[in-house]
Amino acid sequence: MGNRFQMNDRFAQGAQYIGGRLRPGTSGRTQDIVNPATGETVHTYELAGTADVDAAVAAAREAFPGWAGATPGERSDALHRFASVLAERSQELAEAETVQCGKPIKLSTEFDVPGTVDNTAFFAGAARHLQGQSAGEYSGDHTSYVRREPIGTVGSIAPWNYPLQMAAWKILPAIASGNTIVLKPAEITPLTSLMFAEAAAEAGVPDGVVNIISGAGKDAGEHLVGHRDIAMTSFTGSTAIGKRVAEIATATVKRLHLELGGKAPFVVFDDADVEAAAHGAVAGSLINSGQDCTAATRAYVQRPLYDAFVSAVADLMASVRLGDPFDPGTDLGPLVSHLQRDRVAGFVERARAYATVVTGGEAPGAELKDGAYYRPTLITGASQDSEIVQSEIFGPVLVVLPFDTDDEGIALANDTPYGLAASAWSRDVYRAGRATREIKAGCVWVNDHIPIISEMPHGGYKSSGFGKDMSSYSFEEYTQVKHVMYDNTAVVRKDWHRTIFGDRP
Ligand code: NAD
Repeated sequence: MGNRFQMNDRFAQGAQYIGGRLRPGTSGRTQDIVNPATGETVHTYELAGTADVDAAVAAAREAFPGWAGATPGERSDALHRFASVLAERSQELAEAETVQCGKPIKLSTEFDVPGTVDNTAFFAGAARHLQGQSAGEYSGDHTSYVRREPIGTVGSIAPWNYPLQMAAWKILPAIASGNTIVLKPAEITPLTSLMFAEAAAEAGVPDGVVNIISGAGKDAGEHLVGHRDIAMTSFTGSTAIGKRVAEIATATVKRLHLELGGKAPFVVFDDADVEAAAHGAVAGSLINSGQDCTAATRAYVQRPLYDAFVSAVADLMASVRLGDPFDPGTDLGPLVSHLQRDRVAGFVERARAYATVVTGGEAPGAELKDGAYYRPTLITGASQDSEIVQSEIFGPVLVVLPFDTDDEGIALANDTPYGLAASAWSRDVYRAGRATREIKAGCVWVNDHIPIISEMPHGGYKSSGFGKDMSSYSFEEYTQVKHVMYDNTAVVRKDWHRTIFGDRP
């Protein structure tokens, strides 16, 4: 069982990246980074305490005037170099991501790392294209224009499911538009966020522009969100923690961007290509072991296709190869931790009381027994209001329910608190088009489920949060708009002064 990424003394200096250098945390507590495929500890580091958060925020504030004052062209040049450094380190980044998350090396290599390189290149270009309304003489006597300015120092918090991509999604739009940032990755997966920050520095992004605090949510995370020198909080994680983050950020009147949980519906109308839909459902529900906020979790299938769909999905799930994440032939790795695996298993065990587990529903034995593995799981017969249909499971579990009319299919798709992503499967453009309009989610795919691209926004509706990652839309979160108004008349008594001076000469 592999652990090809050699930690050696890679982070011997510590796992806090502050002001351009690595240093140990000062919380007095340590955190193990565990390879979930084997259960082995690959590294132990000292967690950040509140003093480390203060130091990172101070470094970011110090770097702000210089970075905000750089020209868009200068920032763009640094980000182009950053993309090249990341591309050169693709192999190391992919291996580190696989060690700390357990994701198959083919996923790290073909999805996580190239996606991050592309995102970096996108923001290198976008840094020179901040958009705004054109200037004009709207009052007749003044010229008005809009300045789009960075907000200041951003405090960001990221989850463990795609640590490298989440670091990129948080850091890139923030720094491309002239902010500086302190990012707190999930404490169990900080490695690739640290490597991302090091690559930025090597590319010429000045020290202090990107800082990484590897600490626990309750102390380092809450301290960062409540910090008076942080101008904005951007959080990606569960809806439950997002609510707590919102409370703290609101108490200190911060701009807030929340990317929260999902429970994506997958709606198959009766004219769909059932084989394509079954392949899409298996790939879309199992990607990253189902630990994907947009993963297909609830398939609603119109009655005439229901049996064929369930049987095709069950067969395909049975063909998926679990194994060593470093084996290029492995399709499905472990979950990120034994804790997460047990959480997922708990949902499935409770569902047995009211639903049918068609395939999966167990951890594999034999040589995978020490890892946090769980078999691809298909569940039928659950009711719409059951836990397995309503709650985010974040594991390789797909629930399938039948529906009769198009109205019903769309209504069921909308019937959870979440609204991050969805897909509609049909050969009829009018039917699919209706679904794209009426499903309340930040992204609706037609005849596919999962692909993302740097040019298009990602973000939630409803309890999945608000604000956008990726694309030029993300600049709406990371910039503030200032109206500048010049008088053009040069007269002492302006027309509107009548409201004060009346008719006096
Ligand atoms: P989580 O909410 O448990 O943790 C997310 C981050 O918040 C971690 O860094 C954690 O240390 C930190 N945190 C925990 N408690 C905190 C507190 N009290 N104050 C401040 N920070 C705190 O989520 P997770 O288990 O790491 O990740 C899975 C969740 O992330 C899922 O719900 C998933 O849907 C969501 N997610 C959403 C998106 C999106 O774009 N909407 C993307 C990826 C993941």
